[in-house]
Amino acid sequence: MGTEVSVYFWHDDAAAGETIIEEIFAEVDRINALMSTYVESSRISELNRDAASGPVVAGDELFELIQRSLDISVLTNGAFDITYESVGQHYDFRERQRPDEATVEAERQHIDYQLIELDKTAGTVRFLEEGVRINLGGIAKGYVVERGVEILRSHGVENGIVTAGGDSRLLGDRRDRPWVVGIRNPREDGQVAISVPLEDEAISTSGDYERYFEEDGVRYHHIIRPSSGLPVEGVHSATVFGPDAVLTDALSTSVFVMGVDEGLKLIGCLPDYESIVIDAESQIFYSTGLEDPQSAEAGVESTPPTPDTC
Ligand code: ADP
Ligand code: MG
Repeated sequence: MGTEVSVYFWHDDAAAGETIIEEIFAEVDRINALMSTYVESSRISELNRDAASGPVVAGDELFELIQRSLDISVLTNGAFDITYESVGQHYDFRERQRPDEATVEAERQHIDYQLIELDKTAGTVRFLEEGVRINLGGIAKGYVVERGVEILRSHGVENGIVTAGGDSRLLGDRRDRPWVVGIRNPREDGQVAISVPLEDEAISTSGDYERYFEEDGVRYHHIIRPSSGLPVEGVHSATVFGPDAVLTDALSTSVFVMGVDEGLKLIGCLPDYESIVIDAESQIFYSTGLEDPQSAEAGVESTPPTPDTC
């Protein structure tokens, strides 16, 4: 998945701990082999090659994650859309490659989650037109860390943390203290903008600093606005925390796309989920359910918008 995965936990028996780590990384490899578009032989690559010609069997796990992605597209009014890949496939951030205007214009027509047809009985996925591509980069890391924590739990581990890129799932506390997760300062490498104490929760951050290159003063990064096919402007990072890492992962990407007002309004409507957004002026915004102890101290401006009716 092109990112770093780490696991950290306590166990009384070091050898048993090693075995658990091996099991978790085998699981990460298995999910990667199934869901990564970087892997030619993955099921998702197969879908991208063949699903426009006819239904392709996805397998329960992939089918379910695609189903969840579509549910989140509905929830976010299309801000989260795994068919962004129709344009996304033309980026290579390491090689500083991006699609030209004509390519964006042509491929953007294939970005629409409603072009994905799922058949639950047959367990198949079909794309309704040629040119549709999907990529689970905005949700699969959340799935990986959920699976990692499930494995920890199945071995009786009570305190731990599994991280994949910007997504973490915490198990219990840090042995009588909360875990403290830092949200990066989006423009100062290695500096933490905000520290969040959390227990037994998931936290995901989407940032425009994870994968990007700059060209003529424009930052081309990896989060794409489905309606334009272009990298989203206006937000530097969006963090979401709550009980389920699959959802915090997809929602952090969604809030990034939706922007401060709409994004925080959505989070305000989801019980148990909270969000912190840093906009392009480095101003910090909090969802309504959050206390804001640091901003008063640091003199950071913050205006929590109140949700209208949900
Ligand atoms: P990261 O932890 O890598 O920063 P994010 O959760 O922010 O990941 O997801 C970014 C990834 O989501 C991109 O690399 C891409 O694979 C995918 N993505 C980009 N734009 C969208 C979008 N509008 N909807 C769904 N997925 C997207
Ligand atoms: Mg995400």
